[in-house]
Amino acid sequence: DRTVSSEVSSFDEQFELSLRPQRLAQYIGQHKVKDNLRIFIDAAKMREESLDHVLLYGPPGLGKTTLAYVIANEMNVGVRMTSGPAIERPGDLAAILSALEPGDVLFIDEIHRLPRAIEEVLYSAMEDFCLDIVVGKGPEARTVRLDLPPFTLVGATTRAGALSAPLRDRFGVLLRLEYYDDESLAEIVSRSATLFDVTIDAEAAGELARRSRGTPRIANRLLKRVRDYAQVLSDGAITHALANQALELLQVDPLGLDHIDHKLMQCLIERFNGGPAGVDTLAASIGEESMTIEDVYEPYLMQIGFLQRTPRGRMATHLAYDHFGYEQP
Ligand code: ATP
Repeated sequence: DRTVSSEVSSFDEQFELSLRPQRLAQYIGQHKVKDNLRIFIDAAKMREESLDHVLLYGPPGLGKTTLAYVIANEMNVGVRMTSGPAIERPGDLAAILSALEPGDVLFIDEIHRLPRAIEEVLYSAMEDFCLDIVVGKGPEARTVRLDLPPFTLVGATTRAGALSAPLRDRFGVLLRLEYYDDESLAEIVSRSATLFDVTIDAEAAGELARRSRGTPRIANRLLKRVRDYAQVLSDGAITHALANQALELLQVDPLGLDHIDHKLMQCLIERFNGGPAGVDTLAASIGEESMTIEDVYEPYLMQIGFLQRTPRGRMATHLAYDHFGYEQP
């Protein structure tokens, strides 16, 4: 259970709801995404139409679910949430779609995990707002057309490349969420602190931001943990010194790396002379799954320029040697 994991945990679920911005104006950072959305939303409202289907993609914890709620709020419509793996049969999709009110937002998280058969049913729903459903079996089988209210599908995925081309083409708006800069994350931390009714100074908010791996979910989680330390170790206010002390106890280093990142990089540098080392070999050496390394640890280590993926294997960079205190090879 990593403090700096960008995946959602049951710990997050308890408080994430209360921290979600409700309107576009409260949604911090992601200026390009917001500017585009503002125009599309205003235009759709002027034409009194539903908003085009929107595909949101980017790493976990950057605010895709939050943005789906924001879109619904801005359009003054209802929202229905589901996820790719939760829709198992065409009938499940038909039930969800036929219960929508005109203009509603249907949010499908992890849309790349929709079964192919469901995806095909979704095409006509997205394009013509109707469903062709086969009822009955064998010679009795016939197709029934079901008209649907106009709706906006908001799909979210961490892997835009895993989406089939026909599905991707049916989205009118494609928006890529980027990792947040420190300034935006500090603003998110300060906003969440206000909602938690806890005092945090600007330097402390900046420190939490720098250690949040560009991810609001991690920023909010660090804030929640540091708040506990502040309550027990001092008067509840989060100062820079207290934040540093708490983050050290949490084993989150100045770049937001934790003991697993350290173990991975140290192994690559010490045992494999900085690489190249195959991901399977590396995984076996530190007792992790190759997939976990590829999907969870590597992206951020590559993002900050510590690790390179080469055709011959993983390699540690000069930046990594410096950060972990090794002499350059
Ligand atoms: P996943 O795809 O893993 O479910 P997500 O991208 O949908 O993640 P959210 O659940 O929307 O992420 O966001 C995580 C948390 O980060 C939310 O609780 C929200 O409070 C906060 N958050 C995300 N984006 C912003 C933002 N732009 N401004 C303020 N808070 C944000």
